[in-house]
Amino acid sequence: MAKFSVDDIVRNNIKKLVPYSSARSEFDGDAQVFLDANENSLGSISNEKYHRYPDPLQKKLKEQISAAKDIHTEKIFIGNGSDEAIDLLIRAFCNPGEDNILTTPPTYGMYEVCAAINDIAVLKVLLTDDFELDMHKIKKSINKKTKLIFICSPNNPTGNSFSTSDIKDLLEKFKGLVIVDEAYIDFSERNSLLKKLKDYPNLVILQTLSKAWALAGLRIGTAFASKQIIDILNKVKPPYNISIITQQLAIKVLSSNADVFKNVKVIRYEKEKLLHDLKEYGFVKKVYESDTNFLLVKVSNATALYNYLITKNIVVRNRSNQPLLKNCLRITIGTPDENAFLIQALNEYK
Ligand SMILES: *Cc1c(COP(=O)(O)O)cnc(C)c1O
Repeated sequence: MAKFSVDDIVRNNIKKLVPYSSARSEFDGDAQVFLDANENSLGSISNEKYHRYPDPLQKKLKEQISAAKDIHTEKIFIGNGSDEAIDLLIRAFCNPGEDNILTTPPTYGMYEVCAAINDIAVLKVLLTDDFELDMHKIKKSINKKTKLIFICSPNNPTGNSFSTSDIKDLLEKFKGLVIVDEAYIDFSERNSLLKKLKDYPNLVILQTLSKAWALAGLRIGTAFASKQIIDILNKVKPPYNISIITQQLAIKVLSSNADVFKNVKVIRYEKEKLLHDLKEYGFVKKVYESDTNFLLVKVSNATALYNYLITKNIVVRNRSNQPLLKNCLRITIGTPDENAFLIQALNEYK
């Protein structure tokens, strides 16, 4: 097994970086009078209580996530969506114009976009025809400049989860970071890899409140990893990346998590129903099993069906220009009414 050390893979300039020290991070205790951050101490005429900067390290929110996930607060990073964590990982670990990351298309598009913004090359190893990781090709493609491997499981847009033993194999053999994006994990029957963090110092797990937790508009994503990796992300992030309102609302929702999973059950039920119904149409060639809140559907002519649905005021995602996804549409599970509306439109499709 390759010996892994964070120090070996973090960019030199980041290793040496002295982070911006905000007023709130230099003194975060209790005091009566705060004259350290150039805020408008008198507050706003509208009486809103947002004239102070938010907690840069989101301690209260992290305590809640820590309790909910049974993981130490030092191993939690909170970003403005998990997209912020993706960007920070690339910026902290990959030297522009020099290093590369590896992705496994068809998969989530942001890994490649963030890499391109940072002038980082992307090694793309397509999934196999049955949407599994092509382990042989992945291992052959990795080179000395490969710093990060992004594995999205359950995968967007194919909907399946990858084999845990394949992911473990990568974690053991690869000297860089293996980033497992679990954005859809709360829709899945499978276990998160969170419990494996203690075994693999090069594992980073991304989760988000944007999907099952129904808070896409709030912008909260989390990265879980060793304290060493989390410290690096905290050093690179903008100091006040999560607003006061966002922190407060997330704390409120996380402390009432019973409701969240009630809706997840409805979505699972609706997904099975839609999967069954879709299979009845002659123009539907295949509906893929899904661990997520969407279905990937292969039809006879994806673009024609996509355009037809637009005329019925229904927007789905046309993924047919992605590798391996010829004539595939990605359909998010809607409310029961929305799903019925979709079926009604499909009944009228010739
Ligand atoms: C939706 C999604 C995300 C979520 O990103 P946020 O920035 O947290 O909203 C992350 N990864 C994948 C694979 C997704 O599909």
